[in-house]
Amino acid sequence: MKNIEIDGLCFGTLISKEEISKKVKFLYDTLLINYKKKWPLCLVVLNGAAVFANELLQNIGSEVEISSLKVYSYKGLNSTNKITVDYIPYNLIKNRNILLIEDIVDSGLTLDFLKSELINHGANRVECVTLLFKPSKYQYEIKPNYIGFNIGDEFVVGYGMDFNEKGRSLKNIYKNTIHKIN
Ligand code: 5GP
Repeated sequence: MKNIEIDGLCFGTLISKEEISKKVKFLYDTLLINYKKKWPLCLVVLNGAAVFANELLQNIGSEVEISSLKVYSYKGLNSTNKITVDYIPYNLIKNRNILLIEDIVDSGLTLDFLKSELINHGANRVECVTLLFKPSKYQYEIKPNYIGFNIGDEFVVGYGMDFNEKGRSLKNIYKNTIHKIN
């Protein structure tokens, strides 16, 4: 598959759409087994996880509650190490078991923040399914409950994930290779 360029950076294919779909089906089947008795409230972490959540939850029963929240910490290729909350549906979370749907867990700062924030506002239990996980960057003891792919310390785009808000519509997942030489 060919390389692409976004805002002067080169990206090569890391995970194909076919591999992603297989993994998403595996994750869905695992969740189906584990949440057989009752599904938690599903909270999609926007914007990055929208595409993953759409594919993951497309066959889910109509009784399952799905909502979203929006936080951000990345600017360009790097984390600002500061979480900015845009929107969290605090009115929905009291006494609820919650499944956070994440595109990617990197240092774990966002996930740690969200777990504390939701528990402090009355959630009962908070679990997380993430499509991608960077073990070498992760700074916490407890890992996400459900992980699609472990990846290296690389910046990725596609399948909902952006670089400067671009690249979200790409079907495959791409990793940053070299900086463009002009
Ligand atoms: P963390 O708080 O775990 O360090 O980072 C989580 C958030 O940072 C993700 O939800 C995502 O928005 C962003 N992020 C981390 N790594 C990457 C990456 O490689 N590519 C993109 N596009 N976003 C990333």
